[in-house]
Amino acid sequence: MEKKRIVVKIGSSSLTDTKGVIDQSKLSDHIASIANLRKKGHEVLLVSSGAVAAGFAKLGYPSRPVTLKGKQAAAAVGQSLLIQSYNEQLSKFGMIPAQVLITRNDFSKRNRYRNAYSTLSELLERNILPIINENDTVSVEELTFGDNDMLSALVSGLIHADQLIILTDINGLYDKNPKDDPTARRIAYLPEITEEWKQAAKGSGSKVGTGGMKSKLIAAETALSLGVKVFIGKGTGENKLIDIIEGKGDGTYIGSDALTSINSNRQWISLHSTVQGSLYVDEGAELALVNKGSSLLPAGIYKVEGFFEKGNVVEVYGINGIIGKGEVLYSSEELKEILAQKREEQRIEKHSRLEVIHRDKWVKI
Ligand code: GLU
Repeated sequence: MEKKRIVVKIGSSSLTDTKGVIDQSKLSDHIASIANLRKKGHEVLLVSSGAVAAGFAKLGYPSRPVTLKGKQAAAAVGQSLLIQSYNEQLSKFGMIPAQVLITRNDFSKRNRYRNAYSTLSELLERNILPIINENDTVSVEELTFGDNDMLSALVSGLIHADQLIILTDINGLYDKNPKDDPTARRIAYLPEITEEWKQAAKGSGSKVGTGGMKSKLIAAETALSLGVKVFIGKGTGENKLIDIIEGKGDGTYIGSDALTSINSNRQWISLHSTVQGSLYVDEGAELALVNKGSSLLPAGIYKVEGFFEKGNVVEVYGINGIIGKGEVLYSSEELKEILAQKREEQRIEKHSRLEVIHRDKWVKI
């Protein structure tokens, strides 16, 4: 079997008990299965929750805190306990963990995003197991990944993983909610996330049930859009992860082999960048961008909005609304000047071959 790069996401309930204590037997089961995966030559990154769950009891809270400061304090204590346990368990297999704590803000800055990629690649190169979590203690409420399902999807895209495995305590997606409908049937394979499933993930009227898996479904949709296949399900024993990548997992496989990895520039523009302005393009330019995969040239632009620098990301509007986003090679001032020249019928040809947005730095919406 070819060597794969795999992201494994483990949730709090698969690591801790209800009293807020790390369950060492669950942890050792996960670690043994990761060790087996690596023995077969696969690269593994772990996205581990459990910081808040492992920390709250030590702070004297009777249950998982609900306030932001309570969660952040619990995460500070719990994260170190988690890594301590990981260290102990991994050492039995001669593996070394690296704690990687990320905030949403890290991904929104392009140089930090690139840097995260380089660091994770270096860790894999050196045979270290990255153990990634959101930096809960410093993340501000409005600027989080939402949950670790989403974090694991974004990490999978960033490092161009072959597969994301989301381990949970339910064995996959069901056509109805299995908790309140005994006729619910498990979906073994979902080639793509259809509109019906998207509606289910949003919680609006739909025939399919998510069975408490909304966040996993939304994360799977993001992973697929970045070219990464997903497995959502459960398993026990040291062979559970090998079984999953060999197609024998107890859960739902999502996405087909036809998926192709999305380049990092496009991922960043699409999911992490901050939009600084807008360009309005004519029908010809819209057609070239959307259907022909061409770059955007100055001649197709008729309106520029906002103030932006070369290298910023802007939204592009066509005849009927937004068509995509891209990184500009001109500032708004330069573009406005070009437009003014165009209106005065001056020499637009001078600029007309220079790309405003190169096709590699353009994403359709
Ligand atoms: N980062 C949180 C923690 O470690 C978990 C977030 C989640 O479960 O999605 O406690």
